[in-house]
Amino acid sequence: MSTHDDGLRELYQEVIFDHNRSPRNFHKLDGANHVAEGHNPLCGDQLTVYVRTEDGKVADVSFVGHGCAISTASASLMTEAVKGRPVEEVEALFRDFHALLTGKPADERDFGKLEVLTGVREFPSRVKCATLAWHTLHNALSDESRPASTE
Ligand code: ZN
Repeated sequence: MSTHDDGLRELYQEVIFDHNRSPRNFHKLDGANHVAEGHNPLCGDQLTVYVRTEDGKVADVSFVGHGCAISTASASLMTEAVKGRPVEEVEALFRDFHALLTGKPADERDFGKLEVLTGVREFPSRVKCATLAWHTLHNALSDESRPASTE
């Protein structure tokens, strides 16, 4: 591995560490019109995602819960990535992000900060930690009442 890759990996780890230590949008959301719970039994990650949609957009989004650093950081990064975006775009981003992490070729797109989670591709069990928040968000947006599970 080149020095460049090491530097990138370090940066990625730093971002994950930061989002785990101080997760963004980590609170219950007053006025949420979509809520879903997610559970990753393999790791013990558990979270609740709150969404307030308005005019077909994710006007606000938040989460609470507990889990490993990857699941918490991923949920935090997700809330930042989807806030203010049209619901359709958010669903497309979920599909592309899932494809990115599960190794299937995704469309060319700029994943922004979400790129920091690509390191989990080497660890299949961690992919579930990284995608849990997204599965839960998807369930919230589609008003699925069963808890999202990575199993
Ligand atoms: Zn986990």
